[in-house]
Amino acid sequence: MITGGTLDEMGYYDASYELEQRDFDPYTTYSSWVEDKIMTEGDDRLVENILGLVGEAGEVAEKIKKLIRDDTRFNNQEILKELGDVLFYTTALANYYNGSLKMLIKMNVEKLDGREARGTLKGSGDDR
Ligand SMILES: [Mg+2]
Repeated sequence: MITGGTLDEMGYYDASYELEQRDFDPYTTYSSWVEDKIMTEGDDRLVENILGLVGEAGEVAEKIKKLIRDDTRFNNQEILKELGDVLFYTTALANYYNGSLKMLIKMNVEKLDGREARGTLKGSGDDR
């Protein structure tokens, strides 16, 4: 029986697989996937996406609040699920503003690296 391992050992080279991997951009794929899930349009979409983002961030905050107030424990998976929901609406809003998740990550890294380089990570103000 020939298995994947056997093919590798035989030096089998699947060019289509490599092409698939090279062209696969998880950020772009996720942004498109999110876009396919959006059910509202125009101003309704903007409001729905913003309320979704705030609501999901609230669900994260609620877990922390209950941990502090009631000592209600949650497992990592529970809060990671909510953070995923935050990511969904963040990506939806990035799409709405003709951006992308990939662009958000790049812009955020550049902003914070710039602040770090200028010694302004602490402080306030958008343009520091
Ligand atoms: Mg949620």
